[in-house]
Amino acid sequence: MKFLLEKNLSRLAKWLRFLGHDVKVLEGGISREALARNQDRVFLTTSSRWERTLKKAGMSYLVVPRHDWELQLCAVLRHFGLEATLRLDRCAYCSERLIPVRKEEVRERIPPRAYESAYDFTLCPRCGALFWKGTHFEGMRRMLDRVLERCRPSGGSAG
Ligand SMILES: [Zn+2]
Repeated sequence: MKFLLEKNLSRLAKWLRFLGHDVKVLEGGISREALARNQDRVFLTTSSRWERTLKKAGMSYLVVPRHDWELQLCAVLRHFGLEATLRLDRCAYCSERLIPVRKEEVRERIPPRAYESAYDFTLCPRCGALFWKGTHFEGMRRMLDRVLERCRPSGGSAG
């Protein structure tokens, strides 16, 4: 999906990108102009202040909980019925689609230890960021599992 996020939702932005979504974060404050420029995106905000404007503009949006990025992610996944799979096919910083690279091509940019053990190297064609899977990947998986655990309605253990 394509999302537009408020500036204070940068952690949520990262995680939605990890799950493969096209996420743009507003640089400044919310304005009619900014919303108008991004009509094709679903707007995620922590404040209901803009609800009337958004409704009037016919823009889809979701008001998410404040402060807690894990609950924010839960709310988005639940509301849109999204799958929680770590796709890691978009840049965590700018949301561009990543392209696979051979590690030999980017050797000078990789710490020696990661070079030995890491795999699935990808490069962002827009901002030049380099990504790979390694020990941190398991950590991300565990973190996502923990978040999903919190997403379950309390008391329900089915599934
Ligand atoms: Zn990038």
